[in-house]
Amino acid sequence: MKGIKGEAMPLFFLLLIFMSCAHDTQKVVVAHRGASGYLPEHTLEGVAMAHAWGVDYIEPDIVLTKDNHPIVLHDIHLDTTTDVSQKFPRKKRKNGRFYAVDFTLSEIKTLNVHERISLKTKKKVFKKRFPLADSHFEVPTLVEFIELVQGLNKTTGKKVGIYPELKKPEFHQKHGKDIAKIVLKVLTQYGYNKQDAPIYVQCFYPPTLKRLRQKLGAKMPLIALIAQNSWEESSWDYSSLQTEEGIKEIASYVNGIGPYTKQLYSLDNTDRPIPTKLVSYAKKYGLKIHPYTHRVDQLPKGFRSSKEFFNFFYKQLEVDGIFSDFGDVALRFSK
Ligand code: CA
Repeated sequence: MKGIKGEAMPLFFLLLIFMSCAHDTQKVVVAHRGASGYLPEHTLEGVAMAHAWGVDYIEPDIVLTKDNHPIVLHDIHLDTTTDVSQKFPRKKRKNGRFYAVDFTLSEIKTLNVHERISLKTKKKVFKKRFPLADSHFEVPTLVEFIELVQGLNKTTGKKVGIYPELKKPEFHQKHGKDIAKIVLKVLTQYGYNKQDAPIYVQCFYPPTLKRLRQKLGAKMPLIALIAQNSWEESSWDYSSLQTEEGIKEIASYVNGIGPYTKQLYSLDNTDRPIPTKLVSYAKKYGLKIHPYTHRVDQLPKGFRSSKEFFNFFYKQLEVDGIFSDFGDVALRFSK
């Protein structure tokens, strides 16, 4: 404090207040499915890349195997991101799909992960992303994912968190599997079941989040994802989560929402984004807002650049963070 006295003192404290406010406006960057803009989604190689960028959180989507191991996979199916149809052609169900829940972990570990493809065309969903035929990647387990993140945190001194999503609890239930209980057990073993642990647990099915909080003893922050009903993500009616009553209700057991970006604005007749009321409802009930997903190679209509996208979400809507396939780009606009 030497040299700061008299009239300079109030100015010094104003500066301190300004600095602490500036810190509060820092945004959380969630590396969506790892470094999925550059490497096949949900691979350990992608996790290492996102960690090196220094994102705040890395996302593993989680499904269960036949022998109840939580693995890092976006779909309940294996056929859009692995060579399962070549290696296990006879394990196809009548609908033509291959389900992770029909495979043991040791079977899944023989698969090669590739960039996401469209089942109809067999071509990459995102044209400029990782070449299809190159390299070897595995489907990681949740334990492998966590040990990599925690190991890199130790060696680099960074404090990168994890942002696991429980996929399709109702589907798992139909197969006699309690995904919430199994995943919570692993997270607890690795020190994540605390209020201030570097984690958010996300799910599209509110009853699972409610059960985690009220019955299973989950203390960590929880995020309610909001889908569009047309996606048939679960049996939940997502229009209820876009009303003040719906937001007030979930605020009793979650810490935030993960809305689809397009639920936060509509476009006027000049294609300018106009905010919906969802952000103000969430803020009113003290919920964090982490919309998904920023993609450099698939910016939504109304945004001509990532700069315009982040200006709108961060400066106009003042959301708390963003899911991005391009965590390195998102970081540029977030700190
Ligand atoms: Ca996800």
